[in-house]
Amino acid sequence: MTERRYATDQYARHLDARIVDVDPDDGRVLLDRTVFYPGGGGQPPDTGALVLGEDRLEVVRVAEDARGVWHWLDGGLPAVGTTVRGEVDWDRRYRLMRTHTAMHALCGVVWERFASPVTGGNMEPGVGRLDFELPDWDPEDKAPLEAELNAQLAAARPVEIAFLPREEADRDPSLIRTKVSLLPAALTEVRVVDIVGLDRQADGGTHVASTAEVGVVRIAKVESKGRGFRRIRLALS
Ligand SMILES: [Zn+2]
Repeated sequence: MTERRYATDQYARHLDARIVDVDPDDGRVLLDRTVFYPGGGGQPPDTGALVLGEDRLEVVRVAEDARGVWHWLDGGLPAVGTTVRGEVDWDRRYRLMRTHTAMHALCGVVWERFASPVTGGNMEPGVGRLDFELPDWDPEDKAPLEAELNAQLAAARPVEIAFLPREEADRDPSLIRTKVSLLPAALTEVRVVDIVGLDRQADGGTHVASTAEVGVVRIAKVESKGRGFRRIRLALS
């Protein structure tokens, strides 16, 4: 099983690792540890390269399965046992971290104001969308919601990562903020992202350490997605 360094050290940009399996048919390698986020929870996978001496092998795709985190490479595949340096495209990843934390902060302010659960979401570097069950929305609400979101971000709230035993997490249903997704049955430990005092939820993604790092955000658009449902689009400035 690949050690997922990004889950505990979100600011790690590179990591030396050993290739533990090679799948030539699919052009991919399995590493013993990685800083590459394989995607999930609305956050896309990282891009970057595996560096081997003078060679930079572009990582064109990352995904996980029961065995660990697979890295698809552009070009030839190193042999099993080779040590490589995994390097994420940090500008892109850091933008995703800021975007992801902004989206959790939006969950927090929408919950405080409307007690509305989030039903789904997705992001690209710098832009995100979240769907809420939000029957009482009025277009006049957009400006104050954006102001409240930016005030919460500017408050420099710490963003803390914790790992809870499964039983403990199951006793706290508020951790599962996305109504439609339940924790996989096999999970024995649950990673929790806590924007202290604002939003706390089970989440595998990468976040900044303080909401101040997000900067100022804009609520770009609020769309109706059928009766009682709204899609809120936000953008980093
Ligand atoms: Zn998330």
